[in-house]
Amino acid sequence: MELFKSMDNLEEEKKDTQPTGETEKVKCLIIGSGPAGYTAAIYAARANLSPVLYEGLQPGGQLTTTTEVENYPGYPEGVTGPVMMEDLKKQAERFGTDVRWGLATAADFSAEPHKITIDNKTIVEAETVIIATGATAKYLGIDAETKYAGMGVSACATCDGFFYKGKDVAVVGGGDTAAEEALYLAGLCNKVYVIIRKDYMRASKVMVDRVNKAENIEILYEHNTKDLFGENGVEGANLIYKMGTPEEKDVKIKIDGFFLAIGHTPNSEIFKEYLETDDVGYIQILPDSSKTNVEGVFACGDVMDSIYRQAVTAAGSGCKAAIDAERYLSEKN
Ligand code: NDP
Repeated sequence: MELFKSMDNLEEEKKDTQPTGETEKVKCLIIGSGPAGYTAAIYAARANLSPVLYEGLQPGGQLTTTTEVENYPGYPEGVTGPVMMEDLKKQAERFGTDVRWGLATAADFSAEPHKITIDNKTIVEAETVIIATGATAKYLGIDAETKYAGMGVSACATCDGFFYKGKDVAVVGGGDTAAEEALYLAGLCNKVYVIIRKDYMRASKVMVDRVNKAENIEILYEHNTKDLFGENGVEGANLIYKMGTPEEKDVKIKIDGFFLAIGHTPNSEIFKEYLETDDVGYIQILPDSSKTNVEGVFACGDVMDSIYRQAVTAAGSGCKAAIDAERYLSEKN
């Protein structure tokens, strides 16, 4: 594998991969622009695969909705999510990745080359496809979530929990993610409320036991979140106990942070006809690789990872996907 590309050739190669109108052919198409997509692009570009990367609906991915990233190795002072993603983009472009605006709207993996439709019009024929489309955290759908985005509302305790050290916070949800997030926050915060709409927690028994044992966690069963309040950030939440029953009543809690843990939706919809996914939609990959069940199609980052979901693990899996794509092509040709 060639480690360094000649910068002189980059401009010419870039021109070769510009859209030609209807259909274009590429060696390596990367879909998604989070840490997984950009890391795959850095490796693929340095391996001479002339990658074309489409950024998708949310350029930079989920990290652009976070404020400070302090757990990504190599940033001793921390870095904001948007700056980190801009740096990753520049690094991918430096080696010749053709980064483009555009959303993959359809996929056809029935025959090689694989075909991806961009923005419902351009068709890209790709020898290899790296899917790095990520996952989208679910939100309750109340206006306050938008109003306080980055000001007390978060969908990732591991990313943002540190900023609530010694404070009171709430986690919404009763699954394994909520249990994990609550336990993580309990190690940092003064008090953690867990807001659960049912009268039980659906997380695995071992997690429920741990949550119950934590002295600074209080579970609020049968509570729904109505609204959040606060002047310059979240200062509390208005909840409804036993909503829709004769016992219904309003409950107010004082909190500085409100963490959503009601599930994620992997962005795999357009690939499901061809790729194996689990019940939730996470793309299944072969053990110790990034290979999907379709040859030449690889997946990395949160679209295939329901467990770790960290920038650094996504980046690592992006690296694997590019290496797998490069090996696939060199074995094939
Ligand atoms: P889940 O779907 O398991 O749980 C979602 C939780 O959010 C449920 O309690 C659900 O309530 C609640 N919820 C959903 N929508 C709303 C809403 N609108 N208002 C209020 N509450 C809502 O998602 P998870 O992310 O927890 O887990 C996904 C999968 O990943 C699971 O299979 C889990 O086991 C797995 N996982 C595994 C981990 C591990 O092995 N370490 C860690 C984390 C997750 P209700 O119960 O009422 O539907």
